Amino acid sequence: MTDSTHKEFDFIVIGGGSGGIAAARRAAGLGARTALIESGRIGGTCVNVGCVPKKVMWHAAHLAHTLEDAGDYGFDLDVKPFNWNGLKQRRDAYINRLNGIYDRNLESSAVSRFDGHARLENANIVRIGDQKLTASHILISTGGRPMMGEVPGAEIGITSDGFFELDELPKRVLVIGAGYIATELAGVLKSLGSDVTMLLRKEFLLRSFDCTLRDMVMEEMQADGINILTHFKLSGITQDKSIAVDSEQGTQISGFDCLLWAIGRRPNSDDIGLDKAGVDTDSRGFITIDKYQNTTVDGIYAVGDVTARPALTPVAIAAGRRLADRLFDGQQEAHLDYTNIPSVVFSHPPIGTVGMTEDEAVDVYGHDDLKIYQSRFTNLYYGVTNRKSPSVVKLITQGSDERIVGCHVIGEGADEMIQGFAVAVKMGACKADFDNTVAIHPTAAEELVTLR
Ligand code: FAD
Ligand code: NDP
Repeated sequence: MTDSTHKEFDFIVIGGGSGGIAAARRAAGLGARTALIESGRIGGTCVNVGCVPKKVMWHAAHLAHTLEDAGDYGFDLDVKPFNWNGLKQRRDAYINRLNGIYDRNLESSAVSRFDGHARLENANIVRIGDQKLTASHILISTGGRPMMGEVPGAEIGITSDGFFELDELPKRVLVIGAGYIATELAGVLKSLGSDVTMLLRKEFLLRSFDCTLRDMVMEEMQADGINILTHFKLSGITQDKSIAVDSEQGTQISGFDCLLWAIGRRPNSDDIGLDKAGVDTDSRGFITIDKYQNTTVDGIYAVGDVTARPALTPVAIAAGRRLADRLFDGQQEAHLDYTNIPSVVFSHPPIGTVGMTEDEAVDVYGHDDLKIYQSRFTNLYYGVTNRKSPSVVKLITQGSDERIVGCHVIGEGADEMIQGFAVAVKMGACKADFDNTVAIHPTAAEELVTLR
């Protein structure tokens, strides 16, 4: 093949999502000649089909609950049916604006932008069609994509990508999966008016979360009217007038007009020339990295969802920036510490969590070295409403100084509450530090500094 262009850089970034953009802009700011290649829409999963449009939908769902409570707060409202399509148009327009902002940010940071699907040709060469780029440092930040099940008829379903393309609110939805996306999107759909059934292959939603959060979110979603079927081993999907699913146990459930797969994501590592460069992956395709984001090949690095680290936007961003600092700012030890990463599930009610779950803490320290504090209460907001939703805060402490190794919250406001507490946990706070902090009243957050 003849190369129509051949350009040289210090740093090539493959994938313009959260991690790639962060690394590219930091590197360019440090003076590295930087190229960024994106095959789809700039901003990647988070901006286009992830955090951002999801959070807009979560706000809509939250508003639906608030409207339900408005009468109890003295507002006599005449609420017309929810206009899904109107919101979708505004959401899409917002994301288009964000795409423009991301493009302009790259330009103002002096990052050279390339469109197209990039593949490694060897450890220093990246090819996009007939263009060839070379650099001594290459970052792979190609993210991941949603998985569908492998049963007959799986293609009848949509994934989270398809969810964001829906023009109308589906009436009867079957959500398959038990993780972040299943929990969040089932909650959104239910709050906005869909009839929602969830199929779990095991016993719990959010199985890897602290047991208190896990049990409560499931109870609350069921109390909200979501039908959760557990231990359902799916064997096939058919569609006639409606969608029906069969189980290995011989049962069938039917009557759905939308089936949503939310069973995890796989890394975009299969068509980027890893074999040509000699970059290793694990058995699921995640790129193998060390704590400095180095792959198994010198000069090639990976960050974000294409690695087997927590698949969260701020994680990809933080890892990308630290990598750029290490490569181009002489910060030889710069790397992301992957412990105590906080996260929020935008469920109804939301969850905020940082540190170990109770089960993890027991495994590491044993029962006798732990003290657990917990409080269940009803947020003051629900004092005058017919609709009620409980809250729980929980601290897991270890040792005689009661160092906080886990902090978990579920309930109104948990999503905004956990970031500040995550700082304290990251700094190694003990229960006495929480006790010595004067409460802010009346809030839900004060429960965390008044636990007995
Ligand atoms: P991505 O953002 O996926 O970017 C990868 C980019 O690489 C893509 O734009 C892709 O087009 C491009 N690409 C792939 N292959 C090539 C190639 N060969 N050549 C050129 N370009 C290529 N995280 C949170 O922290 N909070 C949330 O609330 C949250 N909500 C989410 C909701 C949903 C529905 C989903 C799906 C995810 C959510 N996430 C959330 C996770 C978050 O979106 C990801 O962790 C984050 O986007 C990962 O960033 P990344 O840079 O690794 O990959
Ligand atoms: P998750 O890994 O969170 O959950 C997927 C779950 O689906 C699995 O844990 C499993 O649960 C279940 N599952 C897997 N295979 C099957 C199957 N064949 N049939 C039925 N159930 C199955 O993946 P998601 O797709 O929900 O989200 C991907 C990632 O994106 C998340 O891990 C998270 O990192 C990120 N994300 C973050 C958000 C946030 O920060 N708020 C929001 C959305 C996504 P079990 O083993 O119990 O059956």
